[in-house]
Amino acid sequence: MPNGNRKSPQKEANSLSVLLRHVLGEDRFPVDVEALAREVSKNNADPIGKIVGGDLPGFEGMLRPHTKRPEWHIVYNEDPRYRGRVRFTIAHEFGHYQLHRPALTDSDYANGSLQRNTGFQCKPLRSNAWQDEERQREEEADTFASFLLMPLDDYRAQVDGQEMTVDLVNHITVRYGVSLTAACRKWIDFTEKRAAMIVAREGLALWGRASKAALKSGIFIRSGMPIPDDALAAIGADERGFTSDSPIGRPAGIWRFSRGSEPVRELAMVSELLDMSLTILQFEDSVDVGESEDEDLWDTYDQFAAGEGS
Ligand SMILES: [Zn+2]
Repeated sequence: MPNGNRKSPQKEANSLSVLLRHVLGEDRFPVDVEALAREVSKNNADPIGKIVGGDLPGFEGMLRPHTKRPEWHIVYNEDPRYRGRVRFTIAHEFGHYQLHRPALTDSDYANGSLQRNTGFQCKPLRSNAWQDEERQREEEADTFASFLLMPLDDYRAQVDGQEMTVDLVNHITVRYGVSLTAACRKWIDFTEKRAAMIVAREGLALWGRASKAALKSGIFIRSGMPIPDDALAAIGADERGFTSDSPIGRPAGIWRFSRGSEPVRELAMVSELLDMSLTILQFEDSVDVGESEDEDLWDTYDQFAAGEGS
């Protein structure tokens, strides 16, 4: 598809949000993404005919064409480890349908079965994990899903400048029917505060994300970054998986980034099922950028961060 015709995932999602608000008013959350996908697609020559769970080892979901008639099926992974992400996955596949699918018509089935090779096979939500060719498409489908399930204006109103606590994070995941990871990632992407999230396994960051303000102050989360030994996620969680109800103030010296270490408020969740932890770091608003404990490291990381952003 030429770039000039490329649909904006955020605009597509927002126009559906406007439609939902018009029809359902304030009771539209969590978004009934299955009903929406069926309703929106049924006016097309190639509607979404089925949305079903299936056995998809290694994949989170798929959008695949029917072999005999112009129609699409969304299949999501039924594995319990993916349960918290089913709605996001359906929204992601619906995003491929709205943004990327080649429209199928009867002529594609002239010989009785589909004559073209098409479809989308999708891996779990990850930051920076896609190969170049797939990457833009996959990020667009994620963006579509994120804005469809969690419209920005509504999410902002829920958070209203507050600090992230267990209560607030639970409120967000229940309101939008999304996983902790999806909820936190969305918040990191729009918050004007200095904050970061880190998803880790066996003491190493799988991936992470820093807010814009945090990035500007030298906080960059690198895949493979070691989690400090005295990070809350390393110490252990209660039976709900949280290490505390509210962020715990930690002194400088525990979390170290390119410009050194500073005090931070830390909130962590540990999932035994997923064998993963998620840590949210919230920093003080003001930062004295003149202070640096290690100039060389600062330079290296800044360059690395600049390269990643381009
Ligand atoms: Zn995908």
